Amino acid sequence: MRKSLEFDVVVVGGGPAGSSAAFAASKNGSKVALIEKEKEIAQTVRTSGVTWADAIKEFEIPRSCYNPIRNYGFQSNHNEVIINDHQPRAAVLDVRKTYRWLAEKARKEGTEIFSNTTVTGVIKNDKGDVIGVKTESDQGDSNFYARIIIDASGFQSIVARLAGYATRWKKFGVGAEYEMNVQNADDTTWWLMVGSRFSPAGYAWIFPLSKNRVRIGVGIGKPDSSLDPKEKLDELIKEKRGKICDLGKMNILEYHYGLIPNEGLSRQTVYNNLILVGDSAGQANPLVLEGIRYAIRFGRVAGQVASDSIKNNNTDAQALSTYEEHWRSKIHSKIKSAHKVQQRWLSLSDQEWDRELEIIRELGVEEFLDFIKADFGLSNIIKLASHHPKLAVRQLFNLVKGASK
Ligand SMILES: Cc1cc2nc3c(=O)[nH]c(=O)nc-3n(C[C@H](O)[C@H](O)[C@H](O)COP(=O)(O)OP(=O)(O)OC[C@H]3O[C@@H](n4cnc5c(N)ncnc54)[C@H](O)[C@@H]3O)c2cc1C
Repeated sequence: MRKSLEFDVVVVGGGPAGSSAAFAASKNGSKVALIEKEKEIAQTVRTSGVTWADAIKEFEIPRSCYNPIRNYGFQSNHNEVIINDHQPRAAVLDVRKTYRWLAEKARKEGTEIFSNTTVTGVIKNDKGDVIGVKTESDQGDSNFYARIIIDASGFQSIVARLAGYATRWKKFGVGAEYEMNVQNADDTTWWLMVGSRFSPAGYAWIFPLSKNRVRIGVGIGKPDSSLDPKEKLDELIKEKRGKICDLGKMNILEYHYGLIPNEGLSRQTVYNNLILVGDSAGQANPLVLEGIRYAIRFGRVAGQVASDSIKNNNTDAQALSTYEEHWRSKIHSKIKSAHKVQQRWLSLSDQEWDRELEIIRELGVEEFLDFIKADFGLSNIIKLASHHPKLAVRQLFNLVKGASK
């Protein structure tokens, strides 16, 4: 016998997008259920957790949830560059703490959290619109009915796929990472390591959480490479390749593995009674495959639009389109530009990477951060594309400028 439950909004997935959507919808007066398949929020870590100081400020993430970063290193086969800043403008998150803090914010606003509960089906009405989800848990099977469902299930896009609106991502990034105790890390500096020594179609990284704790990982683009990132990661650790050799004695604390869509903003994200947000919607910056800040920001917008639409008694795709218009106006052209740069980066030989680092060396810290964050301010790009004394820098920024039109 299936249990039947009714809510205004059902959010599927207790990651940053889902918790943020649940928070905003609850705060705006909706009765909200947040469904998460794992036993606890953030039981499994699937991300490296780098984000930016302005996003931390915007979301008011507590200081205990992150390690600030102010230096940004790049290493290629035969070159390296480090961009130093006097103030931290990036951070490595304690992912579990941050995600649990986000979920707790939603709970405090009234969201009911159903963990250890897996969405296995959708419920549709006569018109074919989604009106609920079917779940399985230790407590038994249930039907959750809602005026609006928010699919925040990450890479799985489970609701959109079960409803027949989306298929599995074909182009995506795969990352394997160890969280490790180390002897001596510089806790103010992260490193991205590029070229075939580190990753055949992507990059490797060292992200410090403290002087004695780092995340070391390898990301690989699929289907560009058939290599398993874990194999490459184990090779780098065994040989202490590149900057890893500066870390001294190391031991593994935890293994992380995850997938992130890399198809640009190709998906429709609103349907009658349904919103897609976060990785489920493909909202990720392809340059460093980061999406946590978009998940939180657009999760909040999704929750707000959902509960406003319920108040206005109209939850069709047209009514929900303000959500899609909002996020597209904020990131569509930036992500398009970032894809152009990503295509260029994926095509570079090892020698070309060595030269690319010379271009990065030319950038001021603000320019570098805007660039890597895909926060291309058009005026700055025009300036760099037309006035930078070095031709190679002008060419790189012309690429960005051209794509953002
Ligand atoms: C290796 C790697 C490294 C990354 N590094 C960074 C980084 O440094 N910085 C950054 O900003 N971004 C990074 N990202 C991307 C970032 O992790 C995602 O953009 C972000 O997690 C998206 O949040 P989300 O809430 O949409 O999805 P998720 O965080 O994936 O959350 C989805 C949730 O849905 C749950 N779920 C799935 N299916 C079901 C179901 N059937 N029923 C119930 N629950 C379900 C999952 O258990 C999960 O908790 C990285 C990604 C990878 C793969």
